[in-house]
Amino acid sequence: MRHAKLVLMVLTLCVLGDPTRAPHAESVARRGVDEASLDAGVDPCVDFYQYACGPWMKSHPIPPDRGTWGRGSELEERNLAVLREILEKAAAPDPGRTGVERMIGDFYASCMDEPGIEARGLDPLKPELQRIAAIKSKKALVAEIARLHSQGVNLGLGREYTGTSLLFRFGSEQDAKDATSVIAVVDQGGLGLPDRDYYFKDDAKSGETRDGYRDHLMRVFELLGDSKQGAALAAKRVFGIETALARVSLEKVKRRDPLNVYHKMTRNDLKALAPALEWKDYFLAVGAPQTPDLNVAVPDFFKGLDTLLDTASLDDWKDYLRWNLARSSAPVLGRGLAGASFDFYGKTLGGAREISPRWKRCASLTDVLLGEALGQLYVERTFGAQGKERTLKLVAALEKALRRDIETLPWMTEVTKKQALAKLEAIRNKIGYPDAWRDYRSIRIARDDLAGNVTRARAFEVARRLGKIGRPVDRGEWLMTPPTVNAYYDPQMNNINFPAGILQPPYYDNGADDAANFGGIGSVIGHELTHGFDDQGRKFDPRGNLSDWWTDADAAEFEKRAACLADEYSAFVAVGDVKHNGRLTLGENTADNGGLRIAYMALEDALAGASPPAADRFTPEQRFFIANAQAWCSNYTDEAARLRAQTNEHSLAKYRVNGVVSNMPEFQKAFSCPAASPMVRQDACRVW
Ligand SMILES: [Zn+2]
Repeated sequence: MRHAKLVLMVLTLCVLGDPTRAPHAESVARRGVDEASLDAGVDPCVDFYQYACGPWMKSHPIPPDRGTWGRGSELEERNLAVLREILEKAAAPDPGRTGVERMIGDFYASCMDEPGIEARGLDPLKPELQRIAAIKSKKALVAEIARLHSQGVNLGLGREYTGTSLLFRFGSEQDAKDATSVIAVVDQGGLGLPDRDYYFKDDAKSGETRDGYRDHLMRVFELLGDSKQGAALAAKRVFGIETALARVSLEKVKRRDPLNVYHKMTRNDLKALAPALEWKDYFLAVGAPQTPDLNVAVPDFFKGLDTLLDTASLDDWKDYLRWNLARSSAPVLGRGLAGASFDFYGKTLGGAREISPRWKRCASLTDVLLGEALGQLYVERTFGAQGKERTLKLVAALEKALRRDIETLPWMTEVTKKQALAKLEAIRNKIGYPDAWRDYRSIRIARDDLAGNVTRARAFEVARRLGKIGRPVDRGEWLMTPPTVNAYYDPQMNNINFPAGILQPPYYDNGADDAANFGGIGSVIGHELTHGFDDQGRKFDPRGNLSDWWTDADAAEFEKRAACLADEYSAFVAVGDVKHNGRLTLGENTADNGGLRIAYMALEDALAGASPPAADRFTPEQRFFIANAQAWCSNYTDEAARLRAQTNEHSLAKYRVNGVVSNMPEFQKAFSCPAASPMVRQDACRVW
């Protein structure tokens, strides 16, 4: 549980290497700029996103199993198709098959066994439900919480909003103030709605969502066999516990400051803070190594939880446990619970209309639980030998541009610049896939037992994470699987990570010109690098320690510039009366703005004053901006836009384009925009 994982978040999957092997790759996307998707009726200086994406948005309606559909999603679907081929081949009965292929094949087969899953119904939950029913003391309650945690109920299972968190989260993390060591961490959790604010906001829509949630809780309890009356009471109890937990939870925006979620203390301190939870028993039962201290991310939460443990009755807690067990298992159970879960999390909150075809859910689930096994076969098939080398070259070009950007920054003093440059020099690059693959051989996988496979795979992952406590940090570890269409910067590792999945069109194309590739993957690399210097990243030093290397004057200058971005994005409307929260999205917006600027600088370096023969009617600079915008083209349902604005640190695609270009004089110049154009901000913001 790393508290500051700064991702690009394009919500997707994919393939680099030999482009002829990428299935269904559209030739038009390969060139980086899709002329057919330009809206000739729109002035790029008035609404650049509409200009670059209008026709695409019109001709690409959101498929029924999604709440959002964008260029990245197309890639994800292409990737899923690759995974499907790998998995179907691996799952075909063949007693001679061994190793990784056998493992992922058997897992996928168990997931595709719909008749078997339906026939077993709720049987997989029964032993655990009986244990919960038998709880007769607070001590037994804590033992059951520890048991469910060790079985991984808190681990999510895929794209739909399924991440349960039973009461709180326990895991391991790199010590924010000692980047060489891994410590234990307990953090807030326990909510079934996406964020604490959902429990308190008094607008009509929020009330409607709460009503929908209460109905969902009742439906789940009825599916578990409760009478209508019993289900209503249980739903009320669960909602009461969650509301109390939400009240003592720290707000999302406050959690963005790493100091607000770092409170290292001894186990005895925690015991004194929250004595009602038998921590000694808990740690033993969950399988945590005996280390003296840990990070209690949000002490007030545990104080509140302590009170609640005393005031809520055992019957309240038993219902709360039953709900979390059902919720966390729902996606892998029969149609009743899986459908109910989709109806609320996928449909009501996420805006999808239909549940995904089973094969898609099963391919994703294999990726979530056995990602570095499936990833081996994926990489073999898709990631060309030159992929890593070409990407590293691009990264070097972006790092060079960022170096020059820092050196010439008008607002920073030399002494802080020196520190910033040292941090930049220390950034490590991880490209494609891990050097050493995770070994899952200790997980027993049975072809006819999906629920059991999932429990065992989750338990393996919990044990793996807890096993890191007290050991040196593994700097080779990846937080994303190879087919993921995404990337991240890790401030505590000070590294950028690019899974093989994102290194292909529309982000990267070996056949496209520099302008298109710098506008695509170049801006993504720039984005991740800039995260090292956003409102969170800047608080970590080159080694990944939380330490202040800024002079007061430079920090004040930074804050002033960041506030400009926060104000700009806070004015952007997501849907209806819901606006973006510029403070929640500050890090991502800083990275979007800095990333595109340094990608532009890298392009100018590559062109070195030369004007290459025109590939079309555009200048290289215009192609750069168009390719960037077109990588973002997206459609959102109202529900998805609302969920995103209220919980996600990334802005909607439109603002990831228009919010950025309107801050760039380079854009104004490239499209000869008059000074009064909407895409030319009078009070343009610039941090990096
Ligand atoms: Zn990001």
